[in-house]
Amino acid sequence: MAQHSVIAIANQKGGVGKTTTAINLGAALAMAGHRTILIDLDPQGNASTGLGVTVEQRHKTIYDLLAGPEALSECAVSTRIENLSLVPATSDLSSADMELAQTKDRTRLLRRKLEDAPAGSIVLIDCPPALGLLTVNAMVAADAVLVPLQAEFYALEGLSQLLTTVKHVRQSGNPALRINGVLLTMSDYRNNLSQQVEADARATLGDLVFPTVIPRNVRVSEAPSFAQPVLLYDPSSKGSAAYRQFAAEFAARLKLVREEA
Ligand code: ADP
Ligand code: MG
Repeated sequence: MAQHSVIAIANQKGGVGKTTTAINLGAALAMAGHRTILIDLDPQGNASTGLGVTVEQRHKTIYDLLAGPEALSECAVSTRIENLSLVPATSDLSSADMELAQTKDRTRLLRRKLEDAPAGSIVLIDCPPALGLLTVNAMVAADAVLVPLQAEFYALEGLSQLLTTVKHVRQSGNPALRINGVLLTMSDYRNNLSQQVEADARATLGDLVFPTVIPRNVRVSEAPSFAQPVLLYDPSSKGSAAYRQFAAEFAARLKLVREEA
């Protein structure tokens, strides 16, 4: 596997589990021995904080990677998990949409910088909750999009907008972009609604929906305040088990995509 893989974790809705999935999928892949680079593309920097990279430690950031001459290797910092590195974000990034709007090739900035990702590595991009220039950069750079969907009533509503953006990116700069899959998050099995949403999603989207569903689990929500993935904070929790199982499914799908390519 000479090539690296780039996956954009995107949904324009906030609070659906993008960052939680980026952190814990990244941790699970790294722990399984895959060299993984997590790109924090959200000005809120939640993935950076959640992996224990403090604001003081964010010398070079995703902003430098997008707007400056810096290479990927200069912006990535190691985390306390072996095989998992991070390109951190700070609030600088919040003005990037406006600032980069006039730049030539403004949608290909990230793609260009990710070209020298190490062979065989997996790059996960934690997108902001919007379909603006940052998310478009992620999709132009990506082989595939992973969509976390919160198991709640309006979950499927925003999806058509997201798929329209994917279509535009395919037409305009990245014809090979695929949907890697949809991950149902924060499901509550005591709640009929979660089951209904899961049934609807599977009926509408079929095999695109990953078999594993991430349950709502208090350990998952506690972990970021300890600056750790739940996989380190409480490895025996239901949330950890679900993310490990999902990571195995995700890696298997990625391999299929590679074989086809
Ligand atoms: P996004 O990045 O899409 O905005 P987050 O990953 O930050 O979403 O998740 C939103 C909130 O939900 C966070 O407070 C997070 O800790 C919590 N959360 C995410 N997944 C779970 C889960 N499986 N169980 C419990 N809380 C969760
Ligand atoms: Mg987030």
